[in-house]
Amino acid sequence: MTLSLLDSPIQFLKGVGPSRGEAFQRMGILTARDLLYHVPRRYDDASTVQPISRLEVGMDATAMGRVRSVGVIPTRSGLRIFQAVLEDESGMITCAWPGQPWLDRKIRVGDTLLATGTVRFFHGRQLHPREFVLLEREARKGGKSGDGKGTVGTIFPSYPATEELPQWALRSVFEKNLDSLLQRVQQEEYLEAAQREALGLLPLPKALETLHRPLRMENVEEARRRLAFDELFFLQLVQAMARYRQSLADPGIAFSRTNALIRPLTEALPFQLTTAQIRALREIMNDMTSSRRMNRLLQGDVGSGKTVVALMAMLLAVEGGYQAALMAPTELLAEQHFRTLTGFLEGMQGEGDEVRLHLLTGRMRVSERRPILEAFAQGGGGIAVGTHALIQEGVELPRLGLVVVDEQHRFGVRQRMALVDHPNRPDALVMSATPIPRSMAMALYGDLDLSLLDERPPGRKPVRTHLVAGRQRSRVHEALRKAVERGEQGYLVYPLVEESEKVDLRSATEAFQELRQEVFPDLQVGLLHGQLPGEEKEGIMRSFLEGKIQLLVATTVVEVGIDVSNATQMVIEHPERFGLSQLHQLRGRVGRGGVESHCFLVGDVQGPSRERLKAFSKTEDGFQLARLDLEIRGQGDLFGAQQHGRDPLLSFADLARDEELVILAQRNARAMVDADPHLTDPANETVRALLESRHGERLKMYRVG
Ligand code: ADP
Ligand code: MG
Repeated sequence: MTLSLLDSPIQFLKGVGPSRGEAFQRMGILTARDLLYHVPRRYDDASTVQPISRLEVGMDATAMGRVRSVGVIPTRSGLRIFQAVLEDESGMITCAWPGQPWLDRKIRVGDTLLATGTVRFFHGRQLHPREFVLLEREARKGGKSGDGKGTVGTIFPSYPATEELPQWALRSVFEKNLDSLLQRVQQEEYLEAAQREALGLLPLPKALETLHRPLRMENVEEARRRLAFDELFFLQLVQAMARYRQSLADPGIAFSRTNALIRPLTEALPFQLTTAQIRALREIMNDMTSSRRMNRLLQGDVGSGKTVVALMAMLLAVEGGYQAALMAPTELLAEQHFRTLTGFLEGMQGEGDEVRLHLLTGRMRVSERRPILEAFAQGGGGIAVGTHALIQEGVELPRLGLVVVDEQHRFGVRQRMALVDHPNRPDALVMSATPIPRSMAMALYGDLDLSLLDERPPGRKPVRTHLVAGRQRSRVHEALRKAVERGEQGYLVYPLVEESEKVDLRSATEAFQELRQEVFPDLQVGLLHGQLPGEEKEGIMRSFLEGKIQLLVATTVVEVGIDVSNATQMVIEHPERFGLSQLHQLRGRVGRGGVESHCFLVGDVQGPSRERLKAFSKTEDGFQLARLDLEIRGQGDLFGAQQHGRDPLLSFADLARDEELVILAQRNARAMVDADPHLTDPANETVRALLESRHGERLKMYRVG
């Protein structure tokens, strides 16, 4: 099948030509398809349009009419007013734009305008438009441009427009081309009527027509939902193919469970697993004991108990005589994991001794590394904990059966795939401590299966969160001092956003100087920021971990996942500049020991930001906060790292609203790939072609193209 009709360059459409064509290209509209998918951003409902004769002084109204005359009126005060007389079937009114004489170049006699604003009294009624849309422009000589179809309905769409391609020009191009574009898109309908019905979706041409020429406002949402499904479906399709290639195409290891290690660990645990942990473990063990290769994301908030789940999985591998590797993004985290695992294994009364546990990091001297590398190379059951050093040259894990990657979000798709690139086709478990809503996890990591730890183990002390006005900062400092006197530690975090990096860094550095010299001259205060070299950063974190630094001033998000159980105070300056999920991550740095912890949000925050912070102070549920963040801030920047080229990953789908649609899209995409892994079935020809055209680049990235 060819998709050439909609792939034709924009300048070949009626009414476009070379110069408009270039203007379109500058908007990112290169092809007929791009134009068809350039849908209105706003709609005005004509039922709110008042006949001009009925406009009364004091009304806030929307009027529509043809421009009869225009002019710029000077006033005595030197203000110049642009005026246009608007006429509809019922009468005429003057529209006035004080101080905007340049509209003279925009609005012409014969134009059709939709204007919204207040009706004032000034030599009679005058409409002062707050905003207006130029719906249509009459051709310069005789006759109207287009057939007027765009304005036949009762809803007036307004498109994202530019200076070069204003509203009226876009509308006139659509008037000339929409019908034929809709006809062409018919061949891209990849869903059969029965499927559409089951999914509750409009036919594709109908959906696009509705967005461009809606008959009723209610239909717009239905139409958006169809296009949102398409976006999600094709994205899931790429990921389903990646999943197939990684997990299903060739079998992986089918581990046999003997319980020789898992049972002693279970018996030795000082706590009961949560329901969520048990569910995740069942999912993991099902994958591992089947020949299907595991590729699973274990999502759970800080403190949700991912480590013990990972350990169980690793013991399952070791029981079967395999090696397991746990990889962390930093040395500190690797060392921390090593300590935790050592503790668990020691608890297993002897049986744990059989598990050979080794730490490998880049910091180690060659003489330290050699025996460890030898032990790895011998094979036999064991657990290797480390950093990237684990996947570097010279490290051999001949019996590698399971790879666990901590803090998954630090690794991109490519790296993630490289990690498990081992001839044994090891199972993979990636862990993330950044709670994100399910819909978002599915959109971002649809190639992985998802296990959620959405339940907190009992017994953790809540962190108390306080909103503190700027003038009460000294009280916070007092609390910090008391905590340090009790032998505890604290963080003071300053925001750092890219646009103003230098300014922010300066303010954090200045604050640090002041804190160290004037507020806490007798305490050990350290500074951590993103521009320090990696080693220095680790050194400072290490000093903090060892208690040599009592108060840590930081501009970067303090090492995600790092556990300084002695830290009990978290002070956040300019909290309004952080997203809720970020604040949650920061707050998660404290409350890790048995002592009551506090989080202070310092600043004079007002309005909606304050409401947001209040909501934050009331809950410690990371998933709930992430959902709230998604609703407030949208999905844009969360996709940042994954975006390619000029196309946003999702422009119709809204992950805050479309969770059910994401699930449907994933289910359908996976079913299609399960039945026809390479989409070679003639019945899937259209889908295959559309997939190429939408996601050619992404297919390559996942190496499934
Ligand atoms: P995560 O890695 O998800 O941040 P951890 O695995 O470090 O969380 O667990 C946090 C703490 O909770 C650890 O001290 C761990 O031993 C403990 N823990 C784990 N599971 C449970 C449970 N089911 N009940 C009580 N405590 C638990
Ligand atoms: Mg952890």
